[in-house]
Amino acid sequence: MATSCDQLKKIQGHPCFGGNHHKNGRMHLAVAPRCNIKCGYCTRRHDCANESRPGVTSRLITPEEAIIKVREVMASPVVGPIIKVIGIAGPGDPLANEETFETFRLVGEEFPHLMKCMSTNGLLLPDAIDRLHELDLHSLTVTLNALDPAVGARIYGHIGYHGKVFRGVEAAEILVTNQLEGIRRAVGYGMTVKVNTVYIPGVNEEQVPLIGRKIKELGAFVMNIMPLIPQADFAHISPPPPEELDRVRKRNESIIGQFKHCRQCRADAVGLIGRDVTVAEPGTPLPVAV
Ligand code: SF4
Ligand code: SF4
Ligand code: SF4
Repeated sequence: MATSCDQLKKIQGHPCFGGNHHKNGRMHLAVAPRCNIKCGYCTRRHDCANESRPGVTSRLITPEEAIIKVREVMASPVVGPIIKVIGIAGPGDPLANEETFETFRLVGEEFPHLMKCMSTNGLLLPDAIDRLHELDLHSLTVTLNALDPAVGARIYGHIGYHGKVFRGVEAAEILVTNQLEGIRRAVGYGMTVKVNTVYIPGVNEEQVPLIGRKIKELGAFVMNIMPLIPQADFAHISPPPPEELDRVRKRNESIIGQFKHCRQCRADAVGLIGRDVTVAEPGTPLPVAV
């Protein structure tokens, strides 16, 4: 397992893992449309709430279009030097889409110096982790909202796993088992792991510190507690007010480092966090100033 000192060196330059996010940017490639679970807060018509702001649908691109887009961005004298990370975060779940692997392969061949990063619901992590390691995945985010399957059953409508549909506690049990196993193996491979937890008032607040302790024990690097965006099955739940979110993050800081500047970016964001320069289609000119 990597020491925290090794990890600190490794994440330098990664804006989502505490690297200077005023200087270092990321480029998301929206190559992953399908998803294999149903989160209660997801409308499925928009970007994955794993890491993406719902309400804005990304234009899907193929792996071939994605590599063209990376070439264009990296060739831009303004944006190119900022980009340190290539991330795949949706709009569905990256691991439910073979395009994710092909895109990382193409990026790795041409731009081996760029960090590869991925965000997933974790269901297929145990199946995919060896391939991700072979592709030199640098950092991984897993969205983990409940350890207790009874709570998970209130959050997830169903999962599709190995050709079958599971619901309720059984579905939540499979999901959390795979998330934890996937995190453990990712850490074992030396990947830097972040865990996102969507804070859903009245549903999973008691799970938050338990998740913090568990992922710390497994070697995760940082936790990102995200406020619920009320929609779909959870449209009636008010999101936590900012002061409450602050309090929860502070309480959990003593357990594991907290990432606090997440902006829930789109699956096709490019540039500095909160100051995206473009969501250009391949072949469209990039802006000349940030
Ligand atoms: Fe929606 Fe993402 Fe959940 Fe899939 S993992 S249901 S795309 S929020
Ligand atoms: Fe990686 Fe997620 Fe940040 Fe994208 S949003 S660069 S996938 S941590
Ligand atoms: Fe970073 Fe959050 Fe944006 Fe991902 S969604 S790039 S974690 S700020």
